[in-house]
Amino acid sequence: MLVNSDTPQSARVVICGAGIAGVSTAFHLTRLGVSDIVVVDARPPLTLTSDKSTECYRNWWPSNPMVSFMSRSIDLLEAYALESGNRFSLSRRGYLYVTASIPQLDSMTHQAAAISQLGAGDIRNFRNSSAGYEPAALDGYEAPVDGADIFRTGEALREAFDFVSGDAVGGIHVRRAGWLSAQQLGAWMIEETIEAGVTYVQGAVTNVSTDEVGVRSITIDGVTSVTCKNFVNAAGPLARDVGSLLGTAVPITSEIHQKVSFKDHKGAFPRHAPMVIWNDPQRIDWEAETRKFLVEEARYEVMDELPAFVHGRPEGGRDSEWALGLWEWNTKSTHSPTWPLEDDPLYPELVVRGLSTMIPQMATYQEALPEHTVDGGYYTKTIENLPLVGPIGPKGSFICAALSGYGIMAACAAGELAAAHISGAPLPPYAQAFSVDRYDDPQYVRSIRSINTTGQI
Ligand SMILES: Cc1cc2nc3c(=O)[nH]c(=O)nc-3n(C[C@H](O)[C@H](O)[C@H](O)COP(=O)(O)OP(=O)(O)OC[C@H]3O[C@@H](n4cnc5c(N)ncnc54)[C@H](O)[C@@H]3O)c2cc1C
Repeated sequence: MLVNSDTPQSARVVICGAGIAGVSTAFHLTRLGVSDIVVVDARPPLTLTSDKSTECYRNWWPSNPMVSFMSRSIDLLEAYALESGNRFSLSRRGYLYVTASIPQLDSMTHQAAAISQLGAGDIRNFRNSSAGYEPAALDGYEAPVDGADIFRTGEALREAFDFVSGDAVGGIHVRRAGWLSAQQLGAWMIEETIEAGVTYVQGAVTNVSTDEVGVRSITIDGVTSVTCKNFVNAAGPLARDVGSLLGTAVPITSEIHQKVSFKDHKGAFPRHAPMVIWNDPQRIDWEAETRKFLVEEARYEVMDELPAFVHGRPEGGRDSEWALGLWEWNTKSTHSPTWPLEDDPLYPELVVRGLSTMIPQMATYQEALPEHTVDGGYYTKTIENLPLVGPIGPKGSFICAALSGYGIMAACAAGELAAAHISGAPLPPYAQAFSVDRYDDPQYVRSIRSINTTGQI
């Protein structure tokens, strides 16, 4: 385990949580020259949410400040990939959004133009053929191409991606996007921080003491006290509970999200594919016998229209047979997350069937599912799905949380921002948008029109 557990009696900064948010905060503090940092986690590092993700990243977000925040995070990911010899296998295969609906393609095209204007890169259009389209490299992150390639017809799309359904009428290939090993990124940062003198302690933060000046000390497992002036709540889905130790309300909810990893022994999911996303809602065409079973089990919701955005990608190196699939068709929100997550026996089958609408070869698993495992965790979110990074509550208390379904790709910029707040370094332009006091502005609160404004999948 990557933990060096001698607990010091005092520290300049105590970070509660060794998920990717806490580890990245510690890492960026050391890069700013801050020492005396202790990271406390009740679990081994990176094992609650940060090892359950699909590990994907993109600069393609429908609003600012998310485009600039993610662009900064990807800049840092690329810099650390270079520095570490790409220890965490950063790739740049892109995200391919596909649709079988002309109005949907029009709306995606319209939205792409707006995202491009926000600084996410240029648009290239392909109408009757894909001539001139530059395919993504299988490995590596260095290709300079960014923005997006828009395939305005199904023919042009299938010329570039021959595995996509004949029903598709077009799609968008977002280029500054791909995936990485989140655990390797986290492990590299932990190693770097340990080398810089950070202490990792296994235990639960059970109390935070404050006085009129601010944070004074924390208690681990009810017994061990560490004096500190700065405390960082990086407790992921438990950030609300940790906030209550300081008497601070943390405005978040947590939403269950699952993922299936399957052994694609028939080679149905193309190994060279980018992350692929079906942008349309769909209905599963269940066989008569299965319909009977679903009625008996009162699973009417899966017989109805299911939401858009079933997605997946190949997983592992070139010789791997594994692939990942996700479909957020039944997310539930809670203020009190619990583990283990409830198992839904239908989830793998639904994902495989949903994916076969986009990749018809996947229908080969309709008779018998391939070997698979399901895991998942929580997207911990604010109401407008923007993160919470900055001071909160008593002086010396900070938060780096609410990283939703984008915490791996955002980790570098979020940790950098938290570290800047703590150390007093200059703040980037997006700092205010992610601060908790944004909710003190009634006009801002009124302007939050929709919960899902950040284009989450
Ligand atoms: C199915 C799924 C798919 C995802 N896909 C992607 C993706 O493709 N790309 C992407 O960027 N993101 C993705 N995410 C989101 C990403 O995984 C999260 O945003 C990120 O891992 C959150 O990190 P965190 O450090 O905030 O939380 P966590 O990893 O949960 O870490 C919080 C830590 O705090 C500790 N803790 C809590 N309370 C205490 C206490 N009192 N004392 C001590 N320790 C405490 C916990 O033990 C835990 O280790 C996905 C998430 C899920 C669930």
